[in-house]
Amino acid sequence: MDALMVDGNAIAGLLQEVFAVEMTTAIMTCTSCGAREPVGAAHVFRGAAVVVRCSTCDNALMTMLKDDTRVWIGFVGIRTLEVSV
Ligand SMILES: [Zn+2]
Repeated sequence: MDALMVDGNAIAGLLQEVFAVEMTTAIMTCTSCGAREPVGAAHVFRGAAVVVRCSTCDNALMTMLKDDTRVWIGFVGIRTLEVSV
């Protein structure tokens, strides 16, 4: 476990600003290894941007960058995102 890493629950507030549904329980499928895991269980690294990584293979799944008025989200390594509605 990296000292700078937290789990996906740490970005629940940021996700709530953007999505209308609970995102920490949304299931991501990794494009690299095929693992399925909830956002809340993924590994999150915070720097200039937030990088969400697969807890199985460390593939970058999602990136988020926020300023005062906008959020840029990249689904760079998610094959599917399953959300409860
Ligand atoms: Zn993976």
